Amino acid sequence: MKTVQNTPIRIPRPDHTLSRHHISQAALDVLYHLNRAGYQAFLVGGGVRDVLIGRVPKDFDVVTNAHPEQVKSLFHHCRLIGRRFLLAHVHLRGEMVEVATFRAHHGDDATENGRIVRDNVYASSVDEDALRRDFTINALYYDIRDFSVLDYANGMADLRAGLIRLVGSPLLRYQEDPVRMLRAVRFAAKLGFRIEPQTAAPISELGGLLSNIPPARLFEEVLKLFLSGHAVQSFVQLQHYDLFKQLFPYTEACLDDPIMGTLIDLVLRNTDQRKIENKPVAPGFFLAALLWPPLSRFLPENPGKGINQQELLLNAAQQILAKQQVHVAIPRRIIVVMQDIWRLQLRLTGNRRGKKKSLSVLEHPRFRAAYDFLLLRANAGDEQVAADVDWWTQFLKTNDPERETLLSPVARKKRSRRPRKSKKGHE
Ligand code: ATP
Ligand code: MG
Repeated sequence: MKTVQNTPIRIPRPDHTLSRHHISQAALDVLYHLNRAGYQAFLVGGGVRDVLIGRVPKDFDVVTNAHPEQVKSLFHHCRLIGRRFLLAHVHLRGEMVEVATFRAHHGDDATENGRIVRDNVYASSVDEDALRRDFTINALYYDIRDFSVLDYANGMADLRAGLIRLVGSPLLRYQEDPVRMLRAVRFAAKLGFRIEPQTAAPISELGGLLSNIPPARLFEEVLKLFLSGHAVQSFVQLQHYDLFKQLFPYTEACLDDPIMGTLIDLVLRNTDQRKIENKPVAPGFFLAALLWPPLSRFLPENPGKGINQQELLLNAAQQILAKQQVHVAIPRRIIVVMQDIWRLQLRLTGNRRGKKKSLSVLEHPRFRAAYDFLLLRANAGDEQVAADVDWWTQFLKTNDPERETLLSPVARKKRSRRPRKSKKGHE
């Protein structure tokens, strides 16, 4: 256990590697502007931690003794957001800098079974603010006045040793906010750090506390865990600490099926690879894959003739989504994408290629995602779709006149009666 020292170690500028060149101009503007207005202002969190270990931070978090309304009055484009506590989002130079007011850890914080449900008591000093930070490596402050780094909990030593260590008693800190378990796993995955034994010890036992967290907050954590370039490691760590089942219990229950296990493995790798190549990663695609195994289980194996397959699929989708939403709330706009990808699986498989639909499906805005997903299923060893993938792959490679020969006579005849459509929508 690490406690916070009231007087931090002050590391002067020559003794650390955080230079102003590493900080975005927008974050610097915010720090200077607050400081000139007579407030204290520090960079804290990922913006300090990541730079000190030679990584590029995802964003910059500023902390100050100015209250949110005071911050708002200093910047033209500033919005106050947040329910558990108010934060200022300052928009500057095309960037957003999050500005938080020092907060204190008070005995009279509103709690439910130890969980802090309201955490909006302002503190007057950075010393107090340091107490409520989660990990030692996140309790490092960069002081804009003299460019020194304040280290309250030996975070520098843990950064060097590659350790994720909670500030204070792990049991209490997880009870206060169970999301810290997910954050421990996420930082370990992202930074390639180890979770220090005392910080790691209670996790498997306390995982159930995540059921008290609003599913919308868990959705945000899921995005950070899986769509930031370290999905494979996040999954490994979540499994290790028995936390994956708290987020996706229905997927977890399918992992013993080798094809489904491989499918999940492939989508995790794929997502990380896309990040390496700077390609966008779509939450809808990722989640469609993650929930495909339980969705398949909801589908009857032999539905029999005359049964509307689309209806069966839609029904199964609604059931699995309703169950999943209790744990992780997936926003509506993403559900729509997932359902499209799932529905299109039916149109891309089976004996549909001879029907006129096989061409109109190309124009569906989600065709490419659905095809990529079909490919993933085939690569995972789903033999039922292997032939369909080969057919589509061949079809997409050929040019227009040759495509005609791949279509069945029925489709060719029907198509020749229709005026040709433009080629848009193939991607
Ligand atoms: P990144 O932004 O790279 O994901 P970060 O450390 O900046 O990592 P944020 O979620 O941006 O993480 O939070 C900024 C800082 O706020 C953290 O470094 C930590 O000091 C504090 N913090 C965030 N969430 C919590 C929490 N649940 N409990 C305690 N402190 C927290
Ligand atoms: Mg951050």
